[in-house]
Amino acid sequence: MSGNVGWSAKQGLPARAGSYVLVLYLARTARLQIGRLGRFDFLAGWYLYTGSARGPGGLAARVSRHLHGASTLHWHIDYLRRVASVEEVWWREGVERRECEWAQAIGGWPGAKVIAPRFGASDCGCATHLWWVAANPFDIGSITLGAR
Ligand SMILES: [Zn+2]
Repeated sequence: MSGNVGWSAKQGLPARAGSYVLVLYLARTARLQIGRLGRFDFLAGWYLYTGSARGPGGLAARVSRHLHGASTLHWHIDYLRRVASVEEVWWREGVERRECEWAQAIGGWPGAKVIAPRFGASDCGCATHLWWVAANPFDIGSITLGAR
């Protein structure tokens, strides 16, 4: 059984399938074009982005791309990542895709806002996979997502 869970971890992720949350920080308000999704005004502050990795290299490869910045802009998150820093990565191994479940949980946090509808959520029914959250998410995140 692979049940590894990481918290506050940017390194040492397994090269296996899993789901993750990026905790991003945007220092100042930015108007950004997000591929074909559209142009949005991103508030400064904290963002949580949920995703899953099931391709070659698993979590290690995908999160490495997010940490170092992608040379080609493919996913919506690649556009935001050019101006926002990744402060933490929360992850859990497993082939189940938890990104939708986690996105919906985060959307229930007090003050959570959708900045760009359908961001990262082109193929599912979620409002978004990227939430702006009013407070530093480090403490409440663990409880809500049950990752520790
Ligand atoms: Zn979804």
